[in-house]
Amino acid sequence: MDQLHVRGLVVRENQLGEYDKLLTVITEELGRITVSGKGVRSLKSKHMPATQLFCYSDFVLRQSHGYYYISDSALIESFFHLRMDLNKLALASYLCDIAAEFAVEGVGDEELLRLTLNTLYAISEDRPGSLELVKAAYELRSAAIEGYLPNLDECGVCGVREGKPLRLDIMNGRLLCEDCLRTVRRTADADDEGTAHIYLRLTPAVLEAMRYAVSAPVGRYLSFSLSGDEMPLFASVCEKYLLNHIEHGFYTLEFYKSLL
Ligand SMILES: [Zn+2]
Repeated sequence: MDQLHVRGLVVRENQLGEYDKLLTVITEELGRITVSGKGVRSLKSKHMPATQLFCYSDFVLRQSHGYYYISDSALIESFFHLRMDLNKLALASYLCDIAAEFAVEGVGDEELLRLTLNTLYAISEDRPGSLELVKAAYELRSAAIEGYLPNLDECGVCGVREGKPLRLDIMNGRLLCEDCLRTVRRTADADDEGTAHIYLRLTPAVLEAMRYAVSAPVGRYLSFSLSGDEMPLFASVCEKYLLNHIEHGFYTLEFYKSLL
């Protein structure tokens, strides 16, 4: 039987029976895959270290009846410190849920994997930024690389770049100045039937942070700061942007928020 060598991040685990797990793994080679972890919860299992949630590991797999089974495994990075703090653990679980949502079966997505690994590392090692900043930046950046890149350069209608307050038109992923917003609203009122439009007012600092989070090299995309006054708006805009495009919430997000 053919053996497959893949490298991937365990983003979800479902415990089965006494010793088994079903793992969702995002891989460089095959995108999102479901792996049967037979016996991996046994203390005697040689695959136990590589098959924990948040572990980035090499796997040798064989495929049978639509599932992948582990022949061999080697842990590369466990992000150990994520497990030492409940807030970090909860945030990492939510971000991995987002990654699992965006990853596609059979389609390798190195950019998403790289983004997620960098972000888990930042959380685990207390790299720049509060958890709030990390959460918001990941929400926006993951949406941007998965087909929802907002145009944050200028008003999407008249092209004005500065000097006027700008809003984010969430569903259309564009900016609108106050004048164009009025026009857009009049037209929308006339021909839309119940489509929810959300136009969030942005401050210059929040817009600058959003531009940075979507355009900086992935290794440095969290290296910015915002004042305590601006952070709640940044957090709210990024969360709304992601959830409105994914079109559902996450239990892991509710859990993370319940801790705050
Ligand atoms: Zn305009």
